[in-house]
Amino acid sequence: MIYQRVENIFIVRLDVGEEILSSLTELCSQEKITAGTISGIGAANYADIGLYEVAKRKYHGTILEEEMEIASLNGNISRKDGKVYLHLHAAFANKQGQIFGGHLRSARISATAEIYIHTVPAKIERVFDEETTGLNLIQFDPTN
Ligand code: ZN
Repeated sequence: MIYQRVENIFIVRLDVGEEILSSLTELCSQEKITAGTISGIGAANYADIGLYEVAKRKYHGTILEEEMEIASLNGNISRKDGKVYLHLHAAFANKQGQIFGGHLRSARISATAEIYIHTVPAKIERVFDEETTGLNLIQFDPTN
């Protein structure tokens, strides 16, 4: 991973074999990013994506293991219990142009990934919502 900062934007390049979530978590932690958006494209040969079924509070995962374009990578940065928390969704296109997508748990780069991170000077915390969704929802700090 290499990256360059231009004002409130980090331009990131990921290389062969690197994993998206762990790389970006490391960057956000190193650069003390507490809130922001992530968008990117690239190529991957492994991805773990899925869908959270709210009614059953169950995550359905799918493993994709072939040469794919990362047609879209989108998400945001927040914190949970003080630690970097990334929420990413992605769409992967195979040789036939078929798209598979969902909540991203892991993806390994096969060629490169070009990712922009727009930072926001805010503190966005996640709090577990036991009552309605069973998800870690974003919460706003009334002091900023
Ligand atoms: Zn999600």
